[in-house]
Amino acid sequence: MIDQASKTLKDVFGFSEFRQSQKAIIGNVLDKKNTLAIMPTGGGKSLCYQIPALLFDGLTVVISPLISLMQDQVRQLHALNIPSCVLNSSLSTLEYQDNLQAIGEQRCKLVFLAPETALQNSVIELLRCVTVACIAIDEAHCISEWGHDFRPEYRQLNRLLEHFPSAVCIALTATATPRVRSDIKRQLLIPDNSEFIASFDRPNLYLEVLPKDNPYQQATRFIQLHPEQSGIIYCLSRKQVDELSSKLRADGYSVVGYHAGLSSAKRNEAQERFIRDDVHIVVATIAFGMGINKPDVRYVLHYDLPKNIEGYYQQIGRAGRDGLSADCLLLFGYGDTGKIRYFIDQISDEQEKRLATGHLNQMLALAETDTCRRLPLLQYFAETLQNENCAKCDNCCNEAKQKSDLTVAAQKFLSCVYRTGERFGASHIIDVLRGSNAEKILQNQHNLLSTYNIGNEYSKKQWMVLSRQLLQKGLLSQDEQFGGLRLTQQAADVLKGNTPFFAQLQHATVSSKTSSSPAQPGDPALVQILKAERKRLADNDNIPPYAVFADRTLNEMAYYFPHSSPSLLQIHGVGQAKLDKYGEIFLRLISTYCQQNNLQEVSNGQTLSKTVKSSSQTSVKTSGKTLEIIYAFEGGDDIEALATQHKVKAATINKHLYDYVVAGNCLTQPERLLRASKLSQIEIDRVLTTFEQHGTERLKPIYDGLNSQINYEQLHLLRVYFLQHKSAEI
Ligand code: ADP
Ligand code: ZN
Repeated sequence: MIDQASKTLKDVFGFSEFRQSQKAIIGNVLDKKNTLAIMPTGGGKSLCYQIPALLFDGLTVVISPLISLMQDQVRQLHALNIPSCVLNSSLSTLEYQDNLQAIGEQRCKLVFLAPETALQNSVIELLRCVTVACIAIDEAHCISEWGHDFRPEYRQLNRLLEHFPSAVCIALTATATPRVRSDIKRQLLIPDNSEFIASFDRPNLYLEVLPKDNPYQQATRFIQLHPEQSGIIYCLSRKQVDELSSKLRADGYSVVGYHAGLSSAKRNEAQERFIRDDVHIVVATIAFGMGINKPDVRYVLHYDLPKNIEGYYQQIGRAGRDGLSADCLLLFGYGDTGKIRYFIDQISDEQEKRLATGHLNQMLALAETDTCRRLPLLQYFAETLQNENCAKCDNCCNEAKQKSDLTVAAQKFLSCVYRTGERFGASHIIDVLRGSNAEKILQNQHNLLSTYNIGNEYSKKQWMVLSRQLLQKGLLSQDEQFGGLRLTQQAADVLKGNTPFFAQLQHATVSSKTSSSPAQPGDPALVQILKAERKRLADNDNIPPYAVFADRTLNEMAYYFPHSSPSLLQIHGVGQAKLDKYGEIFLRLISTYCQQNNLQEVSNGQTLSKTVKSSSQTSVKTSGKTLEIIYAFEGGDDIEALATQHKVKAATINKHLYDYVVAGNCLTQPERLLRASKLSQIEIDRVLTTFEQHGTERLKPIYDGLNSQINYEQLHLLRVYFLQHKSAEI
């Protein structure tokens, strides 16, 4: 059955591989086992029930909390010729009747409804007359009172399942707290071994934090890195949304504002214009985003600090759902921290207040960290980082960020924690260090400690930054309930002077370059032509452009220049339905463009397009497989991921990179090879010098020349780098 699933993936959706977890989840559902699927936003949850729906005899009922999400799904399914419909209050009586009839006559494979509709007797009766093969519960965290979005109607869904004992149930959510998970499993009778949790890392998102100094200018500069692309700017307040959107509009940007203070008609209109690419930028409060599924949002800018990591993660998660690179920038100012603290002070429940403060501190730790940004982010989801250097955040990419030796400051802080009995929070410790006369200090006689008044060289704010870094690097732990700081085993080493402590106290003030990575190496002029056509077709059919073709699809078209239906079917996202609908139109555009520019189709062993070769003029032979790998590599996939995906060794991927560069092509970010080698700069220099001396033909002399200290995989990577570097010099 899973083979059939793979075939459906290719034939209907035009995708060649399942994503991580999708295969196991779909296999489980096809085996008719109730399943819980936990995947981040953009992880590809929809396919987990859409593919079983197509393979099962009978109907799949999809429960969804939001009308806009249902409509979006149905629009996309219709574009794929998959018979599906919604039942909800947005339909006219006539449409509603039509849809009921389609379901009754078994002309429909998927029906989307809200839980309250699904629980109506008339609807249950109708569904009982047809075979319900599968019940999919989207946004399943709504079942749990512990979730952030509890909906009482969801609580009744177990009744629905009782009516359809032979239907398999799949619950899907992007929220993963253990409490919510076990609640969902209990309610929907899902066994523990049918729970699948995908990694929450979103490797295609480039994460960056900049100190907020001139936010408007910083924002416009960032937007300019993404011309004509869709982006979201999040602000903390409605007023800020109104001001910023007006200002951007006045400066000629294509922008619309969105917040809960607008009428629902205005909000819908804003959302719809964004989805249809009629407007590029939405400036919004956190009210925006839940109801949209737009896959090609290329950036998210946080104009203000989010209140917690959960929110930050959810909001950046709206970028790059299609898997292509996307940029996330957070402008971080201490003034914003004050505003959030003010909100927190208004909370009357002490426990809630402590919780909110804890969440804010986690967010600050992410904003201030000098290590990989993914570290605190994944820590939040109780995941560990796979690679110390993610190569997709400002800290990992920017070696210029200076860390200084703060061992003495760390020792002062840690020893003050120790001397005050490991019961106090950072603020009190800092008061002691800075010699405050506050009553709490005197009451506890902390003015008599040896660590009293020994820390005036740093401001309170700087000490705060240091304390968060000590926490984050595991030298301190914090009592969850009362916030008291305690020393860990690691602290002892720093206190004794055995281990130095390096950190960054002053936030970097230089703007590191945002990735703006050339995610799509397609011929830009052709991409523009194809995009314009996509927009025209979408408007004609009253659907969003991404329901015609995804960005990645257009870029691949402008990269491989397919000239025939079979080659077009090889392109990501082109299945039979899309081929029938749009194939001819797009093939014509591509071939006209190729004729005008003297370009040929790129397939196995054929001529490569001029654009992929960013710098050289000669035409080159490169295999289709190599190009496929290069395409994914240039799109941001790392070597290990590619090896797993293609079920080959990393060495094979390296070989493709080698072939590509030897053929005279250039990788756009060769420094990624250096990072992948995980060697220090000194080692890299040694290897490159050795290549200089011994040439690149054979690696054995290099390996020996370096006393077997650098392994072959690393040498392979650096050889590619060296060769590209050389050809650039020529
Ligand atoms: P989620 O519901 O988890 O947020 P979606 O189901 O909307 O995510 O999928 C996000 C995007 O990823 C969609 O554009 C979808 O077409 C694409 N996608 C999903 N699975 C695959 C796959 N196996 N290969 C390529 N693209 C995929
Ligand atoms: Zn990183």
